[in-house]
Parts: sequence; C-alpha cells; structure tokens
Amino acid sequence: MPIDMKSGDSLILFYHRIAQGVDDPYKLCVTPARFAAQLDEISRYGEPSTLAELSVPSLRPRIVVTFDDGYADNLINAVPIAEAKGVPITIFVTSGVLGRDSGFWWDRLSTLLRSRPSSISEITLPVSQGTVRIRLGSASRRRDLQSVRRHLLALPVTEIHRVLDAVSEQWGTSAAPPIDARPLTPSEFVQLTNSEMVTIGAHTVDHVRLRGLPAGEQKGNIVSSKEELERLSGQAILHFAYPFGGQDSFDDHSVDAVRSAGFETACTTIPGNARPMADPHRLPRRMVKNWSRLHFRLALGRWRLVPHH
Ligand SMILES: [Zn+2]
Repeated sequence: MPIDMKSGDSLILFYHRIAQGVDDPYKLCVTPARFAAQLDEISRYGEPSTLAELSVPSLRPRIVVTFDDGYADNLINAVPIAEAKGVPITIFVTSGVLGRDSGFWWDRLSTLLRSRPSSISEITLPVSQGTVRIRLGSASRRRDLQSVRRHLLALPVTEIHRVLDAVSEQWGTSAAPPIDARPLTPSEFVQLTNSEMVTIGAHTVDHVRLRGLPAGEQKGNIVSSKEELERLSGQAILHFAYPFGGQDSFDDHSVDAVRSAGFETACTTIPGNARPMADPHRLPRRMVKNWSRLHFRLALGRWRLVPHH
C-alpha cells in the first residue's frame, strides 16, 4: 500500500502503561495484545524510529513510540513485546519515584476515592492556603477524581502527598497506590537500560508541573533527574518529556533549562505531527488509547500517516 509522502511528517506516540484487567480510572492502560497489534501497524505503515533518528530523512514516515512516567509494567509487559516486534521504545522515567512505595500521587488518589466510606460525601483538602472542600458524587468516581485532581495539580508534589496522607487519616482508609500501578524499582530500571530496544529519557525528579516555578528551581529539578538517571544507567540521557506536557504545564524557562542541560529533544503532550522543521525542544505527540488494530489504523489515517481514499 502506498504511503502519503507529501507531508514529510513524523509521528511521536505516547503511552503510559501496558496492563490488562486492572483498575484504570484515568484510561492510561493499553492491553498487551492491543499494544502488540499497534506495533504491527506501526511497522506496516511507518518506519519505527528513535527520537535521535527524527532528523534523518526517511522514505517512510518515522513513528516513535514513547512511554511517560516509569511504571514497572513498562519493563514487565511492554519491553518483551517491543523486543519481539523489533520496535524501539523510549521511556521517560521520573527519577525520584523509582522504588518509592508511595508511587505516583494520582494513583494514591484513585485508591483513596475507591475506599471512601459510604458515609462521606465530601473531601476536605487541608492545603496550605486554607481548606478546600469538594463534594463527591456517588455515581462517578471518574468525575470525582477529575475534580479533586484539578485542585491538587496546582500544589507542590510534597504537599500533595501530605494532603493525601491527611485525608487517608481522616477517613481511616488506605491511600497506597494499587500494586499494579507501582513505579519501577532502581534494579528494574537498570534491567530496562540493558534492553537494546529501550532508550531512557528524563521526566523530572518528582513529576512537578514546571510552569510558573522560578527558573532556578525548574533547572534544578530537570538537571537532577538527568544526573540521577545517568548515574544509575551509566548512559547519557539525551531526551526529556515535560510532566503533564500540555501548554499549561511548562514555560519558556522550562524549555531553556532543558536545552541548556544538554537534552537533544523534549516532548510535550500537545497534539500534532512532528513536522520536519519542528522545534526539537517542543515536540508534539499523539496519545494512544486502548484501541483495537482497526481503530489504531483509523487514527493513523486521521493523523495523515496513511493514504486517504
Ligand atoms: Zn508524566
């Protein structure tokens, strides 16, 4: 089948977790079978590539597979499939969360809301500027998660964990993340670096929302994550992804810090194809969902990476 050659676009895809049969309120999981089918489609319609290869001309559209955050299931479920299919993947790891039992705060929040006692109809967040009360509906945990998450997002990460500890104590329930949502341990991280199909990228120390923080603080967090991952892996870490990654999650200071730290590329989550002249430190990406082979192929078509009829 001919490929649309006009655009010269590349495509950077992003995933978070490869897992099956787990609680997934944020819709971040793709099942192993669907991931395998998606990698087949990538090889069929494009040139599976690394971020470093983006600047090298290709006859077929380059497609780069990336993962954000550093979940253990990336090593356990995604890497064997990527190796079997011969598709390189880049994993952006949150360095300070490696091996942390508390995991990612949004996963703790999900546990907390799931274990909410039925007598409780609002959540009281003791944030530093005062107390925030949010009514919780009984129908949709997903909606509850979104409204609480929105309030927490603006806070420093250590404060978010403190607030979740406080609510967990108030309610007398657990706020431990689900075991399947655990981050990589340091030794799993080292295993990951041993795979020839894997490139490691940085994703800050603590998954901080960079935008608006003082330039020095941003730089410190970005540089520390790079240095820690380089120390653990013994490799140069040359690629970065902005946590959350939307327009509202990083600013010009973040981009300057990433560039001056020596990263060759930096990925956002701003949707788009990577044009040949794209700024390498503001690369757009496309999020992949738990789509069947056909739906994934349709998405490639929407993104103009396969021919239109
Ligand atoms: Zn992330």
